[in-house]
Amino acid sequence: MSETFEGGCSCRAVRYRMTSRPLFVNCCHCTWCQRESGASFALNAMIEADRVELVSGEPEAVMTPSNSGKGQKFWRCPKCRVALWSNYAGAGDLVNFVRVGTLDEAGRFPPDIHIFTSTKQPWVVLPPGTPAVPEYYDRKQYWPAESLARREAYMRKKP
Ligand SMILES: [Zn+2]
Ligand SMILES: [Zn+2]
Repeated sequence: MSETFEGGCSCRAVRYRMTSRPLFVNCCHCTWCQRESGASFALNAMIEADRVELVSGEPEAVMTPSNSGKGQKFWRCPKCRVALWSNYAGAGDLVNFVRVGTLDEAGRFPPDIHIFTSTKQPWVVLPPGTPAVPEYYDRKQYWPAESLARREAYMRKKP
């Protein structure tokens, strides 16, 4: 049996469960993520959408402009409006970018990589030992083989 990880919004109307570990965790320092979070970066755990189960409630999709121009679909609690995860244009609805801060045990998912560090806030000091790239990256270079294999499987479902 694989591990499961629960999370949810602030008012607890929406609760969800990841049914395995994520594929990879991006810490994004782009200016879009800074604005959306109101903070210095966004921490996203990428995981197959069918490995995110709703335990209670139902998040609502809000289309939000994105750097690519294609928009990003944010899934928010309909009551307290906290964003739980989002879908980007690339893998679309097949992959959820779960906002790590909404997981009950957020500290278990440190970044696997820091991206868009060219626009990071100057006071943010990156830890040694974690890959960091000025913009985006080639996933074949950084993702573990197991996650790449999982990607092959979900990309086959892409319409
Ligand atoms: Zn809520
Ligand atoms: Zn970003």
